[in-house]
Amino acid sequence: VPGITEVRVLLTSERRTRRIIAVASGKGGVGKSTVSANLAIALARRGRKVGLVDADIYGPSQPKLMGVEGVRPKARDKTLIPIDTPYGVPLLSMGGLVAEGQAIAWRGPMAGGALGQLVDADWGDVDTLVLDLPPGTGDVQLTMIQKHKPAGAVIVSTPQDLALIDARRAIDLFVKAGVPIIGLVENMAGYQCPHCGEVSDPFGCGGAEAAAKALGIAFLGRIPLQIAIRLASDAGTPPAAGNGESAGPFGVVADSVYQ
Ligand code: ADP
Repeated sequence: VPGITEVRVLLTSERRTRRIIAVASGKGGVGKSTVSANLAIALARRGRKVGLVDADIYGPSQPKLMGVEGVRPKARDKTLIPIDTPYGVPLLSMGGLVAEGQAIAWRGPMAGGALGQLVDADWGDVDTLVLDLPPGTGDVQLTMIQKHKPAGAVIVSTPQDLALIDARRAIDLFVKAGVPIIGLVENMAGYQCPHCGEVSDPFGCGGAEAAAKALGIAFLGRIPLQIAIRLASDAGTPPAAGNGESAGPFGVVADSVYQ
């Protein structure tokens, strides 16, 4: 796949410019933020200097996921300084730009300006920014593509038809804008009952892999629907931080992103 070759070259070239890996989904609730946080941590554990940008204006959830809820970023000379997290991945979130609990109802230009403040912050020696986008194909996505030129996009979907139809729209936006698609991650694939051990597929199984094949893009891996992932996320202790060297299924995704 031409896009993937290109991304690998970009990721392994000199660390002069910061590369943005955009994590996108067609709809909300499919685990895009969960994948972003864990991908960033898994990449950091593989030696990358990674920063995390939470650009999901509709539901900035990274501060909670990364265990720094309520910590507000400082600024120096009007430039934001990312917040240190316990996982070696500095973070800036749209949520940190407004008072806590306040709804974010920005119009396009404001959201675009806020995104610029997050991306052009004082990231120090960070060479890769994992950027958690809002779901869908709106203003933030367009600004990000036009102004910040991502090196590639990771698309997250559940195996379900509806989520996949929306994921295709997100893919289409990147492809039309010339942004390489790094690949598709299937999240919430297969649930193993902790009591009887039986595996069931609440959102179907294999749909994202089949869709990736049909679209000619890489399939980056399957992440199971696990209570442990939900609990760890809610506790601000992302599973990729605690799964030994491999970082679990998120490590598989990170290995595909960073060869
Ligand atoms: P999005 O960013 O796409 O809106 P989130 O990452 O916020 O989605 O995930 C939505 C909810 O699903 C969260 O409560 C999260 O903890 C949970 N979740 C995401 N992925 C998994 C998974 N693989 N197993 C269990 N729960 C998950």
